[in-house]
Amino acid sequence: MDYFSVKMRSSLEENHISGHERIVKASELENTISELFKRGSRKPFDFLNIKIEKINSTILFIKKTLKIKTLNFNNTREANNFALNLLQKETGINQNTLQKLIKLIHTGAASGKNMRGAMIVNLKGERIEKDREKGIRTTMVDYTNREENKEKLIKKGFTERTLDALALSTKNLIYPDIVAEYCISDEPDYLTGYVATKRYYFRLTPLKEKGNLFGGRIYFVKNNTDIDKLYQYLQNTPVLIEDIEIE
Ligand code: AMP
Repeated sequence: MDYFSVKMRSSLEENHISGHERIVKASELENTISELFKRGSRKPFDFLNIKIEKINSTILFIKKTLKIKTLNFNNTREANNFALNLLQKETGINQNTLQKLIKLIHTGAASGKNMRGAMIVNLKGERIEKDREKGIRTTMVDYTNREENKEKLIKKGFTERTLDALALSTKNLIYPDIVAEYCISDEPDYLTGYVATKRYYFRLTPLKEKGNLFGGRIYFVKNNTDIDKLYQYLQNTPVLIEDIEIE
C-alpha cells in the first residue's frame, strides 16, 4: 500500500501562521488536501503551501498510543509540582535544574521567543539540541484511522488538539532513548499541558497561566543518545498509530 506525506504551512508577512501534516493513503489525498487548506485558511495569510510526497521509507506501525490520564489541579503551581515530581522520578534530574528548564519554556526559551520545536535535555540536565532557537520538530506521524480515533476522543470530551499531541508524543516515547516529555501550548488560552512517560500521557490542567503567550516542549533523553540518529528518527521515520488508549 502506498502512503503519502501531506504537509501544509501558511504565513503572513513571513511570520508563521499555521502548519499541519498528515500521512494518508492515495485514496484519501483529495479530502486531506481540502481539509488542510480549510485549516490553513482560517486565519489571514499571504502564503500557503501544501506539499505531497510519496513515502519511500519503511513505515513503523504502532498498535496503541500512550495511555491518557487526565488530572485537574487547583492552580498552575500544584500542576507544575506534580510535573516536577514525576519528571524527577523518571529522569533523575534534580528539581532545581528541572524548575529552571521549565521556567525557560514558560518565559520564551529562544531568547525570549518561542522555539519552533522542542528542547532536548539529557539526564545530567544539559540542553543538547543542535539549534537552541529552532529546537527539534517531530514530524511524520499520524493515525491509520484518524477519523475513528478522533470520534473516540471527542466522545470522551477531548479535542483534535489532544489527538495530534498524543500522536506526536507517542512517536517520541517509543524511541528507546527518549525517557519523558514536558509540554505546554503556546496558545494563551489553552492551559492544559502534559507530561509523557514511557507508559502514560498525563494531561495536566492548568499547567500554564492564562494569557501566557509562551509555550514549548522538552524531550528528556538518555546521556549516551546519538543526536544524529535521534534527529533522523524524529524528523524522517514515518510512524502510523492504530488505536488510542484512554484510561
Ligand atoms: P502546540 O502544542 O502546537 O501549541 O506547540 C507548543 C510548543 O511546542 C511550540 O511553541 C513549539 O515550541 C513546540 N512544538 C510545536 N510543534 C512541535 C513539533 N512538531 N515537534 C516538537 N516541538 C513542537
